[in-house]
Amino acid sequence: MNIHKGDNVQIMAGKDRGKRGKVLDIEMKKSKILIQGLNLFKKHKKPTKQGEKGETISVSRYLSVSSALLVCSSCDKPSRIGYKDEGGKKVRYCKKCQAII
Ligand SMILES: [Zn+2]
Repeated sequence: MNIHKGDNVQIMAGKDRGKRGKVLDIEMKKSKILIQGLNLFKKHKKPTKQGEKGETISVSRYLSVSSALLVCSSCDKPSRIGYKDEGGKKVRYCKKCQAII
């Protein structure tokens, strides 16, 4: 998993293809990510109190990390990420522009 919480990613597949958003949460075990305001699904909310109306709300759903790419903060393009050793520390770098991100 090379995407972290708070990263900007671009969705590369599905109905939100080409859209960008911030990663809010990650499910390591399932390799899924939750992106702010993207991959929205309508959910019907039942009235909780008597006399209240049910409503339809949009919620973001987790999507597979394989359908999103990290947006490089340096070249502003969705990029494949590599890892390299930088002074004993493992850092991510953009395979397009080689910048450490
Ligand atoms: Zn780059």
